[in-house]
Amino acid sequence: MPRLITSILSLLLAVQLSSCRSQEEQHAEYFVFGTLVEVVVRDTNEQLAARAFGDLQQRFQAMHRDLHAWEPGALTRINQAFSEGRSVTVPPGIQTLILRSQELEVLTGGRFNAALGAMIELWGFHTSQYPVRGPVPGAPVIQLLLDASPSTADIVIEDGMVHSTNPAVQLDFGAIAKGFAVDLALDILAEYGIENALVNAGGDLKASGGSADWPWTIGIRRPGGGVIGGVEITGSEAVFTSGVDQRFLEHSGGRYPHILDPLTGMPVKGVASVTVIAGEALLADVAATALIVAGRDSWLEVAHALGLNEVLLIDDQGDIYLTAEMNDRLILSPGLKIELNIVD
Ligand code: ADP
Ligand code: MG
Repeated sequence: MPRLITSILSLLLAVQLSSCRSQEEQHAEYFVFGTLVEVVVRDTNEQLAARAFGDLQQRFQAMHRDLHAWEPGALTRINQAFSEGRSVTVPPGIQTLILRSQELEVLTGGRFNAALGAMIELWGFHTSQYPVRGPVPGAPVIQLLLDASPSTADIVIEDGMVHSTNPAVQLDFGAIAKGFAVDLALDILAEYGIENALVNAGGDLKASGGSADWPWTIGIRRPGGGVIGGVEITGSEAVFTSGVDQRFLEHSGGRYPHILDPLTGMPVKGVASVTVIAGEALLADVAATALIVAGRDSWLEVAHALGLNEVLLIDDQGDIYLTAEMNDRLILSPGLKIELNIVD
């Protein structure tokens, strides 16, 4: 009998504990980068959280302004200078993004190419209004841009100034900026002494400071709706997903996703989504996009070139492929009957 009482008591305590715990969390929401960004912090007093949230608001807005590919700002000024062969000053954040983009273009075998802005614009993807209504650009115009072979390797940074040796280079940070911003947001929170936090930019997120008994639990989305399952984050990790189901051009019954294969100038085919877990959000963001471009044949090879082991790919038939390391992390949704193809 006493044992029963003890277990009822501990059950009550557990319930109590979890309801207290949700009160230990504080939330803020921002609308930036065309998406809702949710920030959750734990174990922080209200005043400190409010100050940090205010700071984040300003930093997010500044990044939105500086990194936007088509709204006039720092990046459009740089792109204008590139097309005219001029040299201009480059803010530190953009400088970092150029250097990382150069490195990652090489590591992904050119599948991630942040100099592809003109091709992305040609397809109508410099917009917030999806779906884009056709028509599909003509093959000769696409070929013209391909022949100009824009690459971030054409960009030269010297003494705080930047220029491009190739006028066809137009920077588009659409596949890297969100990751950069999420990393920075957690760094800013850490400067306030807030080490236990989650920054979620529309399902692309990074968390830090979770513990084994109170991890951050993240759902992994399935294209077309629902979740496959979840992962628990205890250290500092990012989970990013790129998919083709939300942003695309639609014309004559055909769907053309907003992720382009830099080799062909054409939208990707064959893959519905890729989810990547990495220590750095910037890397996870780039990788998710680059692995969609790599497709069924090369995704694993490119993941390994990037030093990544926790990857999941869903093809256009809905078939799921994942690494053994990702399989170890995945907690499948209860009752979900799906076949997982573990590859190595
Ligand atoms: P989302 O922002 O919808 O999660 P991604 O992270 O995959 O999607 O980024 C897609 C964006 O990246 C596109 O809208 C475009 O701006 C840019 N982009 C498309 N294809 C490439 C590519 N091959 N390399 C680099 N950037 C790309
Ligand atoms: Mg991406």
